[in-house]
Amino acid sequence: MSELRTRFAPSPTGYLHIGGLRTALYSYLYAKKMNGKFILRIEDTDQGRYVDGAVEIIYRTLRETGIMYDEGPDVGGDYGPYIQSERKNEYLFYAEKLVESGHAYYCFCSEERLASLPDINGARRYDKHCLNLSKEEIAERLARGDKYVIRQNMPVTGNSTYHDVVYGDITIENSELEDQILIKSDGMPTYNFANVIDDHLMGINCVMRGIEYLSSTPKYNLLYDAFGWERPVYIHMPPIMKDAQHKLSKRNGDASYEDLIKKGFLKDAIINYIALLGWSPKDDSEKMSFAELQRKFDVSGINKSPSIFDPMKLAWLNSLYIKEMPPESFAEYAKPWLETCYLKDFDKRLVCKLIQSRIETFAEIEDKLRFLVEFGDIDDGLYVNQKQKADAALAKNILPKIKDKLYVLKNWDNQNLFDTLVELSAELDCKKGAVLWIARVALTGLAVTPGGASEIAEILGKEETLRRIDCAIMQLNA
Ligand code: GLU
Repeated sequence: MSELRTRFAPSPTGYLHIGGLRTALYSYLYAKKMNGKFILRIEDTDQGRYVDGAVEIIYRTLRETGIMYDEGPDVGGDYGPYIQSERKNEYLFYAEKLVESGHAYYCFCSEERLASLPDINGARRYDKHCLNLSKEEIAERLARGDKYVIRQNMPVTGNSTYHDVVYGDITIENSELEDQILIKSDGMPTYNFANVIDDHLMGINCVMRGIEYLSSTPKYNLLYDAFGWERPVYIHMPPIMKDAQHKLSKRNGDASYEDLIKKGFLKDAIINYIALLGWSPKDDSEKMSFAELQRKFDVSGINKSPSIFDPMKLAWLNSLYIKEMPPESFAEYAKPWLETCYLKDFDKRLVCKLIQSRIETFAEIEDKLRFLVEFGDIDDGLYVNQKQKADAALAKNILPKIKDKLYVLKNWDNQNLFDTLVELSAELDCKKGAVLWIARVALTGLAVTPGGASEIAEILGKEETLRRIDCAIMQLNA
């Protein structure tokens, strides 16, 4: 085969959803693997579904994630235009060629007639009524300016077969194929027609897309055959499900790339996770950088079975990526989330250190750090820790001693604070875990916090730490 050319052909209908991004990713990875080209084509002929700004989201997302196209509307290339509406004039020419060769025909049927066709399981199938209009009648009606569409003339007998790289040989009875519309009454092509013309004219020889197109592909192949064009290689991808019954769907508002970013997922984790939705590498590894994906991706690893979008697994992968961020990058990325916490003068570097290894998404930051700014009543029951032999009575006894020790502490850092509390536990002859537990509860009023007493005290600073301990003592004595 000549140079491999794959494409991503999104319709600009809003945010780039997960299924679309996966198509783009696989098409990119495969093209790169084969030293081929990856092309972006915007399919905007369905003006009714067009959403302003959606094209920019597509460009931005692909750039941001590194799924960079070799040719496309905003980068150019030898096969342009790369926006379907700008190719409008091509389609009628090719449809008329099909009419000449008998593979398509003009249809003048009115809405009323179409609506009166028998309804078979919710679909009214066109009955080839206009196929046999005489040449004269067609010429006359066209000259008169009657509204028309152009339909594909499907064979009524035999069957059509093609090979899909993932799903194997696909055969369909030709009698099941409806005479689909190729050119609409407004002169615009349907997706079903435009995708074939565009793919051919743009030299696309490998079409990768979602499984929803598996059963339409025989119709496209008949078009390739009618023109005498070589069919592309087909690689259909398994569906992405929300759960066992429901497909993940952008129309139902399911996650888009931008939503996930807003929810605090990192782009590398999102791409890594999306790569695994329908594909696995030979070595079964799960965490893979973009460079590793490029090395490992192979179409033979694409699965047939549906994959379920599992937010927990994505969160787990995200936490791995968060952990390995250099502290400066973490701090930079965390900034907008930290801003929503109103952290006053707390040392942001220490705060970041506290949470970097303890969050799965950035969106958790606000919840996890609320205790730094909100401090109130402490439930006595929180002091109870059976394993450490701690309870409210012990707290009442030792909190004043903790306070005295900390009051005189010179170097207010985590290590010193920790050593001081441990030292105190030895002096008091109680478990070090008990002292640390009681101190942490007194400082936060919470059973679970990111980090231990000494880390938290370091962030709160001496004054606030002593103030909180005082409050806790007062409450215990009330
Ligand atoms: N515009 C179609 C979509 O967004 C593209 C399908 C294809 O890849 O051919 O679903």
